[in-house]
Amino acid sequence: MIEAAKIKELKGIGEKTEKLFQKVGIDTVGDLIRYYPRGYDVYEEAVPISELEAGKVMTVTGAIYGRVLVGGSPRMQVTTLHVKDITGTLKVIWFRMPFLRNTLAGGGIITLRGRIAERRDGIVMEHPEIFYPSEKYEEKRGALQPIYTLTAGLTNNAVIKAVRQALDNLDLSAETLSPEIRLKYHLAEYNYALRGIHFPEDKEVFYHARNRLVFEEFLEFILTLRKLKDGSEKLKNEYVMGIHPEVEAFIEKLPFALTGAQKKVWEEITADMASDTVMSRLVQGDVGSGKTIVAVLALLNAALNGYQGAMMAPTEVLARQHYESVTKYFEDYGLPVKTVLLTGSMTAKEKRRAYDRIECGLAKVIIGTHALIQNAVNYDNLALVITDEQHRFGVRQRETFAEKGMMPHVLVMSATPIPRTLAIILYGDLNISVIDELPSNRLPIKNCVVDTTYRQTAYSFMRQQIAKGRQCYIICPMVEDSEHLEVENVTDYAAALKEELGAGIVVDHLHGKMKQKEKDAVMDRFAEKESHVLVSTTVIEVGIDVPNATVMMIENAERFGLAQLHQLRGRVGRGKHQSYCIFMSGSKAKETRERLDILNKTNDGFKIASEDLRLRGPGDLFGIRQSGLMNFKIADVYQDAKILKQASEAADWLLETNNEWLKKQFPRYEEVSNIMI
Ligand code: ADP
Ligand code: MG
Repeated sequence: MIEAAKIKELKGIGEKTEKLFQKVGIDTVGDLIRYYPRGYDVYEEAVPISELEAGKVMTVTGAIYGRVLVGGSPRMQVTTLHVKDITGTLKVIWFRMPFLRNTLAGGGIITLRGRIAERRDGIVMEHPEIFYPSEKYEEKRGALQPIYTLTAGLTNNAVIKAVRQALDNLDLSAETLSPEIRLKYHLAEYNYALRGIHFPEDKEVFYHARNRLVFEEFLEFILTLRKLKDGSEKLKNEYVMGIHPEVEAFIEKLPFALTGAQKKVWEEITADMASDTVMSRLVQGDVGSGKTIVAVLALLNAALNGYQGAMMAPTEVLARQHYESVTKYFEDYGLPVKTVLLTGSMTAKEKRRAYDRIECGLAKVIIGTHALIQNAVNYDNLALVITDEQHRFGVRQRETFAEKGMMPHVLVMSATPIPRTLAIILYGDLNISVIDELPSNRLPIKNCVVDTTYRQTAYSFMRQQIAKGRQCYIICPMVEDSEHLEVENVTDYAAALKEELGAGIVVDHLHGKMKQKEKDAVMDRFAEKESHVLVSTTVIEVGIDVPNATVMMIENAERFGLAQLHQLRGRVGRGKHQSYCIFMSGSKAKETRERLDILNKTNDGFKIASEDLRLRGPGDLFGIRQSGLMNFKIADVYQDAKILKQASEAADWLLETNNEWLKKQFPRYEEVSNIMI
């Protein structure tokens, strides 16, 4: 069997199952073996009954105590058992397994592993896996069971079986890394790494396997970047432009003074645009640091110099927001710069109109989504391309955008908080500017981490803020693997909240499955202060700017990565009013609290990410919570910073020595260049 073989060739995979696999992006056997687990289940040591915690999967060993009871309704029979150790007694229940009454009738010592739930009458272990007699558990102890991301109809077991079969039938003896590199960095063999990542016998094997795969992923990415850089370095600047006097005047007239950091970055940009070579620059700045205005200045300067400039945003909501604020700026200051919006959800007629204006050069500033890089769009004299929230785009998209012009200036904006040393590697083809200062009118956001008993207090607090004219966001938890449930969740929550808050307070909601027009309408109402509370999924996370909103409440905050929570929090504290962020946690576990408390202590995105990493320790097995900032398949920029540096060093060496391996094994660009950084 070869990696390119369709998975249907595996035993037990028919047309129906094939469709399910395709749904999660697995088409070939090669895709399958690179479908890495998202975490592992560990058969960990049993704990005393007194130390059980609700919400966790845990193991206990104890004596069967009293009789096994079968109750419930005929359709849903519930089997109940009590288990006792020296620290206490635990109630255990199973659904639809009445035969257990006989199986467990013999009494004695039993080991059970299952989820602990909190009930009105105390904690209960629900539907656990049974190890009876207890010794059976010892055989499993320490083993890691892979957990895969699934879709409805596809079971974890089905994936495990398919992966096992694929690994057994493929010839994996060929090595994909250069031998010198593999030896130098002590990297496991390809074969070993693939087996080890799916079915590690223990943690050591897992770490060793993962290391190698992370290294390889970084190496391919860096080599791709170096190739890009080769092409774009020192391109002659065809659009030499100085600062137009009207831009200077515009800066003077802004309602706020630019911060020192904004000024510095603006100087760097103007120096680039006036230099001999074309600009390729990354502007990095934390949420709310004021990146947009810098982009607007660059666009305005290009336009006044007679060129076109375009800015691409990752979502329609954000693109529209940029369009509206740019047109408003230009109107307010009487700047005769024609600006058009171009997004996917516009009607064919609207698009046609936009295309025409872009093509004939009437439109000088063009703002939109991915629609800006479609084939149908032809620019007249595109001299500047800007991507906002670059971490939501792939490297390839950035390239395609630049190819829309004749070697235009490239500016990318990102809120990804990473230290400079890593940024230099990851954005190898760009120069880096940092906005490391927040506007001075900002009051620091007040944070609190609370449990669900605080919900009513939070609602009354929101009522007070709304009475003062402010607005609030509430983020509903994501529902894993089910967009359908997520929609239901947001809709129900908003309806219940409407009841709760009573007449006079307008509650709106937003989720990813809504039509674009509906989303726009919801955002418009919120921006116009026609609604007071916006209940949303994380679609709100990127870039949205409503400075009048002062409260952000995040339900089930424990389920989010800290980096994402920080982005969400960035939706408030954007204006002159005191803002508040309420992290509501559904878990009382100490670690959860400690993790969320990091957000309490600092507003610095990078500190947050590194603290998060410190707390988790390297290589978190249990639902590998990646920083979620870049979509590497297995690598994580924070967690694997050391490997990233090694891979960069290795890439340099391979290129310098023009290694044989480079010619044979590389490129596998396609996949890599879709990584979003
Ligand atoms: P981000 O860096 O997250 O993209 P934005 O550019 O959206 O941030 O800016 C956030 C808010 O701060 C906007 O409302 C913007 O008008 C405002 N702002 C930007 N620069 C300044 C400044 N120098 N002083 C005061 N407010 C500013
Ligand atoms: Mg922004």
